[in-house]
Amino acid sequence: MIPINVSCSSDCCSTDIKEGVCPVCKTKGHSVKEVTVKRFSKKTLLNDYTGFYFCKNRNCDVIYFKNNGFTLKKKDVNTLVGLKEGKGLLCYCFNKTVEEVKENKEKVIEEIKKKIKEEGCKCEIKNPSGRCCLTDIKSFH
Ligand SMILES: [Zn+2]
Repeated sequence: MIPINVSCSSDCCSTDIKEGVCPVCKTKGHSVKEVTVKRFSKKTLLNDYTGFYFCKNRNCDVIYFKNNGFTLKKKDVNTLVGLKEGKGLLCYCFNKTVEEVKENKEKVIEEIKKKIKEEGCKCEIKNPSGRCCLTDIKSFH
């Protein structure tokens, strides 16, 4: 295994990460920023896009949830979440798919790290998880 040092050029991966528990599957999820939910929600939420968490449990239909039990499910978001579907994109900044990761994870990780260095990433508006994909890719199987 190649050691992975996540070093995003933007602050999307490092700051203010809180944990919440998904009301449906009871799995822990991480907080996502307002801008992320706004970008991916199909529903209009009357300007209340704050306080959401992301559920990454593949067997759960929930994408975003709040501590009060409010959820946005797969059908409520405008993109396919590769992490949940087992197909589609895992890295949304540089278009790396589940298939590519399955085929050669180390290569994909190296490419993403190189791209982050060269171009920077925009995870919080491109990735529905709102965070850098490297952690997810590393643990994806
Ligand atoms: Zn869940």
